[in-house]
Amino acid sequence: MTVGILGGGLTGLTLGFLIEDSEILERENECGGLCRSTSEEGFTFDCFGSHIIFSRDREVLNFMLRMLGDNVVKCRRNTKILYNGRLVKYPFENGLADLPLRENLKCVASFLFARAKKCLHRCDGFSSFHEYLLANFGGGISSKYLIPYNEKIWKRPISDLNASWAAGRVPSPSVFDVLRSSLGFNSEGYTHQLNFYYPKRGGIEALINSIERKCADKTVCNFEVKAIWHSNDKWYVSNGEECMKYDKIVATIPVFSVVDALREGGENVPASVVHASRGLSFNSLITVMIGLEGEPPVNARIEIEEGADAETGENMRGISWLYIPDADCLPHRVAFPSNYSKYVAPEGKTAVLAEITCACGSSGIWNMSDHDIMERTINDLNRKGILNRNYICFAKVVRAPLAYIIYDRNYERNVLTLREYFGKKGIILAGRFAKFEYMNMDDCVKDAIEIARMLVA
Ligand SMILES: Cc1cc2nc3c(=O)[nH]c(=O)nc-3n(C[C@H](O)[C@H](O)[C@H](O)COP(=O)(O)OP(=O)(O)OC[C@H]3O[C@@H](n4cnc5c(N)ncnc54)[C@H](O)[C@@H]3O)c2cc1C
Repeated sequence: MTVGILGGGLTGLTLGFLIEDSEILERENECGGLCRSTSEEGFTFDCFGSHIIFSRDREVLNFMLRMLGDNVVKCRRNTKILYNGRLVKYPFENGLADLPLRENLKCVASFLFARAKKCLHRCDGFSSFHEYLLANFGGGISSKYLIPYNEKIWKRPISDLNASWAAGRVPSPSVFDVLRSSLGFNSEGYTHQLNFYYPKRGGIEALINSIERKCADKTVCNFEVKAIWHSNDKWYVSNGEECMKYDKIVATIPVFSVVDALREGGENVPASVVHASRGLSFNSLITVMIGLEGEPPVNARIEIEEGADAETGENMRGISWLYIPDADCLPHRVAFPSNYSKYVAPEGKTAVLAEITCACGSSGIWNMSDHDIMERTINDLNRKGILNRNYICFAKVVRAPLAYIIYDRNYERNVLTLREYFGKKGIILAGRFAKFEYMNMDDCVKDAIEIARMLVA
């Protein structure tokens, strides 16, 4: 059986590697999708946001590590949240002792109150993400960090998001851990990514390259899937010039592109399916890659709010990444990849990667020029004390139109309609944008392993 794999991101390549008789059709002139990296002037940056390797699933983690061989470093997360000018340990609920005492107390009290209320009402279903946060974290932690940060990254009121995805991504902390953290004892949250891996050299694309090398003869680049049709028990896929024939197809390209390609191929796709595919929401991403002379952040300082008694002089040295909920700073997250691997920056220099989300590729931010995005990002990070603009030796802006899936109120209905339709058609959907799920790399690899097993069986 010949399997046509649409899309050569991590999911498509893993499928290609695992399924012997297969071919991968990729629109771009190189594979990798969101996991691409670029190396310029001695710096290596992940193009579409900082990517680290972690997994709760041992088989999946081992697969990725095996692919990288000895080109890998193991890191321990040292992540912070910039809150009112001070660095608070991440996750916020594990860093309460970094807050002024009064705020710490307010967070713990409202957390305990919310927990008591949740137990009393035996409440597990939540009408929105907003409600989920208040019920699981309380008003203090939610209003100080979780709500402003999430509204910044999702670019909408979080009362418009459903709570279905939250349990796995924003897990409810234990009472014991929150109390420990409030009293200043060390406690860790999100422990599945406390230790993570990163390629020693080449950025996250090194993972892609290592898989691609093992299935190079199967990849067809510069092939944009434009039309798909089924005839005489075969699937046909065309880019408008060439046509490929397969027994089975697995789509890892965005599900709405598969709907469009079927319609282009003459398929009578039901109006409800077209409507569902048009109703899917997503956020775009702009990354600003910055190279700094020297160690971070040369002469920079973290702003301390008037009256706050945080220690001054704390800096970004050794920080993995920093979350910035403040509305007056364009990026929501800044990563320091040279703190993962020293090989991604020239000796003595620092790589900084700032991430900015935009609503569906058409918001005001997305329409700003690269120059204005870069200037504003650098100004904001300089003002916040995260870097010192006088030490910048490299800067570049990159855009990803499709980055984050939005779990809005219509999400479940739309996705169900699409999955039912593709199930009946016999087209397998795999990976982040075909399944239209908040999938990390490990979820994609796991998906590919399961699909390959099913097809081989
Ligand atoms: C900012 C950000 C940070 C992240 N950080 C992490 C992290 O730290 N750790 C982690 O595990 N995961 C992370 N992820 C998630 C990770 O990027 C994804 O899970 C993974 O890259 C998805 O792979 P994919 O192959 O399913 O999709 P994609 O990477 O989108 O691949 C799809 C491929 O299909 C191609 N394509 C699209 N349309 C067509 C067409 N019509 N014809 C042919 N080809 C087409 C595309 O060019 C692309 O190559 C992050 C994601 C983002 C946005």
